[in-house]
Amino acid sequence: MSSIESLNYREIFQNANDAMIVHDGVTGAILETNEAACRLFGHSAKDMCATSIGALSVGDPEIREEIALRYIRQAVEAGGLFNFEWIIRHSSGTPIAIEGNLKRMRGHTRPLVLAISRDISERKLAELRLRERGRYFEELLRNSSDGVALIAADGCVKYMGESLAGIAGFPSRAILGRNVFTLLHPADVPRLFSLLAKARRKMVNSGTVSYRVLHRDGSWRSHEAVFKNLLDDPAFSAVLVNYRDVTERLRHEEQLRERERQLNHYARLSIAGEAAAALAHELNQPLFAAVNFFAGCRRRLEAGAKDSTEIEMALTLAQAELERAGRVIQSVRNFTANHPASRNRHSVSAILNGILSFLRIRAEQDSVTITTHITKDAFVECDEVLIQQVISNLVVNAIEAMTDLPVDARAVSISVEIESGYVRIIVKDSGCGFSSESLEAAGRAFFTTKENGVGLGLSLCRTIVGSHGGKMACEQGESTGGKVSFTLPITL
Ligand code: ADP
Repeated sequence: MSSIESLNYREIFQNANDAMIVHDGVTGAILETNEAACRLFGHSAKDMCATSIGALSVGDPEIREEIALRYIRQAVEAGGLFNFEWIIRHSSGTPIAIEGNLKRMRGHTRPLVLAISRDISERKLAELRLRERGRYFEELLRNSSDGVALIAADGCVKYMGESLAGIAGFPSRAILGRNVFTLLHPADVPRLFSLLAKARRKMVNSGTVSYRVLHRDGSWRSHEAVFKNLLDDPAFSAVLVNYRDVTERLRHEEQLRERERQLNHYARLSIAGEAAAALAHELNQPLFAAVNFFAGCRRRLEAGAKDSTEIEMALTLAQAELERAGRVIQSVRNFTANHPASRNRHSVSAILNGILSFLRIRAEQDSVTITTHITKDAFVECDEVLIQQVISNLVVNAIEAMTDLPVDARAVSISVEIESGYVRIIVKDSGCGFSSESLEAAGRAFFTTKENGVGLGLSLCRTIVGSHGGKMACEQGESTGGKVSFTLPITL
């Protein structure tokens, strides 16, 4: 080998981009290092040659001197390239992942091994991050409350996401390959069967569907799903289903509906109490009139009346009065029957007018006058009876707050005002007003300052108003008396 050639090789060796180290093939000692190797390890060539590869490595059970030596000897024996991955320790203490190859150098009496390596810590880090991300998404899918499944044209489960374990208690592999119809509630099978048939005939592309499915604990759970027909897509050849267990939500909704039904029933019964006074008043008149007509007929018959025209007329009038009484009773029965709660669009003035005659009769008993002030009417989405119950409770409270006042000073005003997006119904009285204690406690269940009070009226009102998206407020009236108001969202 000429000196020029040997110089060139040395220069190439020194300036190569990859780190190069020449090892003694028997002892593993470092004989030579290039500049890239010095940069990689953070040591000078002299220092590196004075130490061992084991001392330059992280030193865990797989990355230590003995293993490095084994690799070097294997490279000597194999002759060809020997690939390896290793973790070195930089002079700063930082571990660096490297990969490279070992190759026995030919033409030397003593076996020499050339190690060429490069820093792969960036790549390793990226791989680690990717793996962690993969694990993260895997975890996410496993713990998701949503599930994903692919259903083949014949109903076979082609794919089932891991989250099934959390949703239905089964590992997804237990469901894979099974026919989906064997898992569904028998009552839901025909509907879903025909949906899948429609998907096969390309009559449906996507949509939502609900069904019940067996949980591992033996209960039927309600699912809601969004599906996409990918039967024609060769990548899937299935219907893609994203499902979610909504059993708890449905149960909660049913509880709310039941509560509202009960509330509605109590409200009607409570109004029935108020209505009793009105009923007595309304029935008194027709019954009294009918009795008079019957008495007149009897008198005429007893007097031997020959002409029946008058008697017939009196009987017709008596019948009409009794029919009127019947209608009054019927209307109260309809009102107090346990109707399901129904929310509809009502005008506030119509709601108020519907209860006003009852309230006036109740007010008259205590010589109270009621005035109404509706500056502008508004529509609200509500259960009319419940809102009438609220108004009725507030007015009765107002009437009861004025028992100590002289008769001519007893007045209740009901006003309706509009404020941004809401309508406010205000009941004001000229009574004793709230004490600071009752102002703070009013509306708390069973708080009452009345001898025969129950303390449920205001709390019932607050619940009803809250369930309609409004708020109730108790305040001291501007001059005197109490002021209780509530809001309801306006609907267009
Ligand atoms: P109850 O009427 O059975 O006492 P409520 O819940 O309707 O139950 O009322 C609770 C309390 O709030 C009453 O006992 C009273 O002290 C106070 N309150 C309610 N409305 C008024 C009002 N308009 N003026 C003064 N106090 C009131």
